[in-house]
Amino acid sequence: MALHDDGSRRPAPARSPDEELAALRARVDGINGALLDLFSERARIAQRIHAVKTATGRPVHDPERERQMLERLVARNPGPLADGAVAHLFGEIFAANKALMEVGERRALRVARKPGQPDTVVWAGGDAIGAAPVLIAGPCSVENALQIEQAAAFLASRGVRFLRGGAYKPRTSPYDFQGLGEEGLELLAAAAHRHSLRCVTEVTDTRHVDLVCRYADVVQIGARNMQNFELLKEVGRARRPVLLKRGLAATLDELLFAAEYVVGQGNSAVILCERGIRSFGRETRNLLDVSAVALLRQATALPVIADVSHAAGRKDILAPLARAALAAGAQGILLEVHPCPAAARSDAQQQLDFEEFDRFNEAVFGTLEPALRKERA
Ligand code: PEP
Ligand code: MN
Repeated sequence: MALHDDGSRRPAPARSPDEELAALRARVDGINGALLDLFSERARIAQRIHAVKTATGRPVHDPERERQMLERLVARNPGPLADGAVAHLFGEIFAANKALMEVGERRALRVARKPGQPDTVVWAGGDAIGAAPVLIAGPCSVENALQIEQAAAFLASRGVRFLRGGAYKPRTSPYDFQGLGEEGLELLAAAAHRHSLRCVTEVTDTRHVDLVCRYADVVQIGARNMQNFELLKEVGRARRPVLLKRGLAATLDELLFAAEYVVGQGNSAVILCERGIRSFGRETRNLLDVSAVALLRQATALPVIADVSHAAGRKDILAPLARAALAAGAQGILLEVHPCPAAARSDAQQQLDFEEFDRFNEAVFGTLEPALRKERA
C-alpha cells in the first residue's frame, strides 16, 4: 500500500490522470538532466582520451573500439528498447563526440583564425595581398613573348600589380597545349620585370618547384593539385608565397588542411583561392561558391581571393561575380585577360580582351570607396 505523502499509513489519495502525467513527466525531465550530465562527463573523458592519443601519436579515431562498445551494449540491453535502437542511440553519442574532436582539431590548426587574430597580410616583394583588394590578371597560358608583353604593359597601365600566366598547364586532354615550360617562366618573369609587376604562375610537379620559384613571385597550386600532398610539402619548404586553389570538389576543411600542409613546412605565406566547384548547371563551367569566401574569412586569417574566370568559364558575368565575392569578403580577384582571346591556346572562351577588362575594372573597382581605389592605384 502506498504511503501517504505525510508519511502516515493512511492510503495515498488517488492521483488524477493529470497529476499522474505531471509526476511521470517530472521523472522524465530528471532522467534527461541526468543523461545530459552523463553525456557531458563522457565527452570530457573523450577529450582527455583524445589529448593522450594526440600527445602519443596514436590514431585518434578507433572504429574497432566503437564496434566492440556497441556489441557489449547490445548484449546487455535490458529492453524494452530494440537492439537496433540501442545501437543507434550510442552510435549518435559516438558521432557527437567525434564531431567535438574535429571542431577541436580544426581550431588547433595553424591556419585557423585564433580569437581576435587580425587578417594575415602576405607580401610578394613590396606588394601586399590581404589588405586592400588586389587584382591578379593575365592570360591563362604564356604563349609567346609578344602576347605576354602586351598583357603586362596593358595591365600595368591600369594599375594592376600582379601578372598571371601559366607555363605548366594542367590540361584535361593530353593533346591540348601543355604550356611552354621554362621558356614560359622566362617570358612571364621578363615581362613582369619590365613593367614592375609581380608574377604568379602554377607549379604542377615537385621536380619543378625550385625552377618555378626562381622566376615566380607567387607560386600557384592549381585546383587539380590541391591534394597533391608531396607538392604541398615541397612548396611549403619554398620561400615564395603560395596561391592555393580550392579543388574541383573539395570541402573547405580539405582546403584548410591542404593549406596546413604548406604552413606546416614553415611557409606561412598562403593565399586561398575559391575558383568554383563542380555542379550540375551547364550555364557556368563551375559554381562560384560565395559562401566559401565568407566562411573561409571566418575560419582563417589567411588572405582569400576569388578566381571568377575559372568559376564562370564565360565572360559576361565576371563583374557581378567579382562584386559578389568582394562583398563576401574576398581580398582579391583573379581574372584571365588576353590581348586576343579568340586566338588563345587555352580557355579562349573566358578570357577578357583589353576593352572588356576596362569595362570589368570600372564595373567592379569603379564602385569601390575612393580610399580603396587610391590604395589600388
Ligand atoms: C589556372 O589558374 O590557370 C588554372 C588552371 O586554374 P584551376 O587550377 O583553378 O583550374
Ligand atoms: Mn585558364
